[in-house]
Amino acid sequence: MRPYFLAGNWKLHKTPSEAVAYAKELAEAFASVTHRVMVAPTYVCIPQVAEVLKGSPVLVGAQNCAAAESGAHTGEVAPAMLKEAGVDVVILGHSERRSIYGESDETINQKVKLALSAGLEVILCVGETLDEREAGKAMQVVEDQLRKGLAGITGDQLDKITIAYEPVWAIGTGKTATPQDANEIHQGAREVLADIYSTEAAEAMVIQYGGSVKPANVKELMAMEHIDGALVGGASLTIENFAPIVQFD
Ligand code: 13P
Repeated sequence: MRPYFLAGNWKLHKTPSEAVAYAKELAEAFASVTHRVMVAPTYVCIPQVAEVLKGSPVLVGAQNCAAAESGAHTGEVAPAMLKEAGVDVVILGHSERRSIYGESDETINQKVKLALSAGLEVILCVGETLDEREAGKAMQVVEDQLRKGLAGITGDQLDKITIAYEPVWAIGTGKTATPQDANEIHQGAREVLADIYSTEAAEAMVIQYGGSVKPANVKELMAMEHIDGALVGGASLTIENFAPIVQFD
């Protein structure tokens, strides 16, 4: 039985003081939560949020990391720096990083490797655009992103990796993939993982769905066989929305 993993991606929201106040609410609300829970603030909020969440079951996430360990990379933050600042998990390959900042599968793969060697867990995001879906290429795109994102990652590293399927057309749009459509891609992704690694390894991997997850639709999404959690943007920003998502059952 795969554990449910509910994660909040705060994107470019909350100043340090707002993040700290919210983290205190989360620590209290989820003191005895039964699922895995994570929140990913912006870099500047991480040390203070990590301090508030110390001793709480809520994991600390980062939204990105550098594709290098150190050196002349102005504006970047290395995986080991995140680890020391209190980060448990780093989100990599988010569609906003791919589309707005031009990250390639090769760069993302480099980041996955560096993050794992720094002792971080990884959430690797994959997902097709609307054009790709309408052209019937959704599964092909997801397969390609999985194979390239995981290149060189060995089976014994998989317990540190979560996959997030986030169809780009469902992010921040209020449009959610139907649970059936999402489940179909999740199942396909698991078949790709089985092909790269093994059926046992693929069955053990947690695959989150992301894209307009909210209290009203979380339950039916989580009821699907291959959906093991959620990566939540907008609805992770308030306790009123995030608590019922995390405690969907
Ligand atoms: P929304 O939940 O706001 O659609 O964002 C999803 C997402 O991109 C999470 O990483």
